[in-house]
Amino acid sequence: MRENGLELSLNKTEAVLITDKRVYTPPTLSLEGETVTLKEKVRYLGVQIDSALRYEQHTKMASEKAATTATALARLMPNIGGPSEQKRRLLNSVVHAKLLYGAEIWAEAIERKPVRRRMAGVQRRSALRVISAFKTVSESATLVLASTPPIDLLIRERQEVYLEYRENGDINTRGEIKRTARQRLLTKWQERWDADTSGRWTHRLIPNLAEWCSRKHGQMEYHLTQVLTGHGCFNEYLARFGKREDSACLHCGYTPDDVKHTIFECSATRAERMQISRTLGVDTISVENFVPCMLVDEQAWSVVSRYVTKVMKNKRHMEQTEETVSESATLVLASTPPIDLLIRERQEVYLEYRENGDINTRGEIKRTARQRLLTKWQERWDADSWGRWTHRLIPNLAEWCSRKHGQMEYHLTQVLTGHGCFNKYLARFGKREDSACLHCGYTPDDVKHTIFECSATRAERMQISRTLGVDTISVENFVPCMLVDEQVWSVVSRYVTKVMKNKRHME
Ligand SMILES: [Zn+2]
Ligand SMILES: [Zn+2]
Repeated sequence: MRENGLELSLNKTEAVLITDKRVYTPPTLSLEGETVTLKEKVRYLGVQIDSALRYEQHTKMASEKAATTATALARLMPNIGGPSEQKRRLLNSVVHAKLLYGAEIWAEAIERKPVRRRMAGVQRRSALRVISAFKTVSESATLVLASTPPIDLLIRERQEVYLEYRENGDINTRGEIKRTARQRLLTKWQERWDADTSGRWTHRLIPNLAEWCSRKHGQMEYHLTQVLTGHGCFNEYLARFGKREDSACLHCGYTPDDVKHTIFECSATRAERMQISRTLGVDTISVENFVPCMLVDEQAWSVVSRYVTKVMKNKRHMEQTEETVSESATLVLASTPPIDLLIRERQEVYLEYRENGDINTRGEIKRTARQRLLTKWQERWDADSWGRWTHRLIPNLAEWCSRKHGQMEYHLTQVLTGHGCFNKYLARFGKREDSACLHCGYTPDDVKHTIFECSATRAERMQISRTLGVDTISVENFVPCMLVDEQVWSVVSRYVTKVMKNKRHME
């Protein structure tokens, strides 16, 4: 070394013994009379080299560093709003630079499962951010949509370029070597994408990776990602993940309401769909021509992207409307005061108790505050424009909420909300063509007809009327009867369950 003009700084010299033996006696190494410490691992040019050349430590540290970067970036970039895909992509490349550092040297390590899993996990999280996707999207679909090849293929590609260049490379062939390696990567990635079992909706839309990844235009954004993954505000998806009870389309009632229905089939989006089909010059947009249309040019991409955003925003709006429709009635039926009133009540009790409270007045303070809450809630309930059927049945909140008996159950809730297996309701949501009663033909068959009027339920109705001691049960005396006592409640509840089950059976 000295002959070559190299000096070793002895006190900075470390050595690592590279061996594939598990048990060995460490040799003593000395250099110019000084003993050199033999270590388990050393760091050389930023790569951790260990004694078995497994690069365990290096790949672990690289994953951790990349993960820290990814987390920091995730905080900077919320899915909605936030920076464009281009900026997200720039940050994604920082994550990849950390993952791939020195990969030419340690590429073999990626064949070991724990290494691969760790690195792939970090890569997936970063790619999810690039395309603003839900966390439930599969790894394979996420990588395709982000045009980011799987980490193990990227590592192998880097190694191939390195080896080939060392073998027969010069400045003229470098570009060609890289292109060939990328071609091989794409072939392997495509095979893997075709054979995968997850991300199949994305695969139907994007069967050809090379076409998708080589495009020069077209940014991914929040709503487009929902459509290309199928993971988003579709009732089928929401029901699958327990966020909704029912997977029907709120516009037309079609079940299941999934991405295919929303974008390509729903009657609510037909007019828009026809318009963009004309603009794009196709008969009608379909699962098959959707992505090919987007790939034509920047303009076509943004026509499709705007359509998607509009449809998805309308959908969300409709859901919010549905949520507010049921909110007031839902709270009343659950005897749960609105949250803002509950917070105010707690504050009032606290302030009043601090002012003039003692152990004797505490109960009284609480009762007064609850009284005030009920008055405000009642005013709100009377003035509300939603939940009017429930309001007809339960005009008095205090009576309803102060009862000591009576559990709500499935069929009773249908009757008290009017949302259930009544043909008028089903027709409104497009689940039936016709709103006539299947028993007697009366139109519309709604909750009032079913419970209080239909000839099919007359015998039962007369019987429970006698039991309850009223002329006949009616909209006006229905809930007051139930409130009498536990026994009456269950007479009414049994009647309701029987009628609703018969109805369901008839359908
Ligand atoms: Zn629909
Ligand atoms: Zn009827």
